[in-house]
Amino acid sequence: QAKQQGRSQYQFYSPEINTQLQERLTLENELHGALERNEMVVYYQPLIDLHSGQITAVEALIRWQHPTLGMISPAKFIPIAEANGAIVQIGEWVLRTACAQNRAWQLAGFTPIRMSVNLSARQFEQPYLVEVINQILEETELQASNLELEVTESFLMGNIERSIKTLKQLREVGIWLALDDFGTGYSSLSYLKRFPVNILKIDRSFVQDVVSNPDSAAVTDAIIALAKSLRLSITAEGVETQEQLDYLKMQGCDEGQGYYFSRPVPAEIIAPMLQKISQQMEVIAG
Ligand code: C2E
Ligand code: MG
Ligand code: MG
Ligand code: MG
Repeated sequence: QAKQQGRSQYQFYSPEINTQLQERLTLENELHGALERNEMVVYYQPLIDLHSGQITAVEALIRWQHPTLGMISPAKFIPIAEANGAIVQIGEWVLRTACAQNRAWQLAGFTPIRMSVNLSARQFEQPYLVEVINQILEETELQASNLELEVTESFLMGNIERSIKTLKQLREVGIWLALDDFGTGYSSLSYLKRFPVNILKIDRSFVQDVVSNPDSAAVTDAIIALAKSLRLSITAEGVETQEQLDYLKMQGCDEGQGYYFSRPVPAEIIAPMLQKISQQMEVIAG
């Protein structure tokens, strides 16, 4: 803001900036102990198969229940955790919690679904990432095919050859890989075919006005066509209305996620949405 006002002007005091800084400092200081104090919680948001209408996956989304500041969005504290390195420990905790939750649903008799977990750049660069994930799968007794990891193009592009190598190792284990927020990054299409991913997630910003804005519709159509020709599965994020859903279905989108279906919710709210294996068996048995 000071910059916009011109070089010769200086900003001496702004109470607003001061408050923001203060809050950032508070969050940064308290982030390290937040896990130990049990202030972090994982919410889950369903992903729906648009052909069958069934839940095929959930995305794990972290929240921070701060004792005085209330519920803090990951959009606010993940960048801080990323900057000070706390994300490595937090990210590992999310992975372990989410994998254990998915296994618990299986043991309760629900049809297996994918658990999708966001990876941050810092985590992705950890030399032991693949080992850590294998260890978590073993500990929680979850099959690799019931885990999906979401990465973004922007951090893959940082070190392309290394990224490809890590992605390949994760694929060899049997984990699903999704490119998150697709369409907003550097989108180098020549690299896309070299990243061994399974799923493209169309960013919410395109889905949001896909019905009203021909440009967003054009980008969405192009991403779906691209995914089809590369034989990738396609998920639309941020589906909020029936009109958006109808459009995406018509264009051949595979999966949808958004407030239209459900907001991110605690695990106990997800359970009643899941299908019992026994119910399906009954149907098959007639
Ligand atoms: P994301 O991975 O793109 O997750 C989707 C975000 O869109 C979530 O925001 C979700 O609540 C929101 N969303 C889903 N459907 C709708 C909709 O219909 N309308 C609107 N307005 N929003 C919708 P959330 O939970 O606030 O998370 C924000 C971002 O924080 C995530 O974006 C992800 O980049 C990051 N994040 C969340 N949890 C984790 C985590 O455990 N690890 C890491 N590294 N990042 C995380
Ligand atoms: Mg995501
Ligand atoms: Mg996303
Ligand atoms: Mg997003």
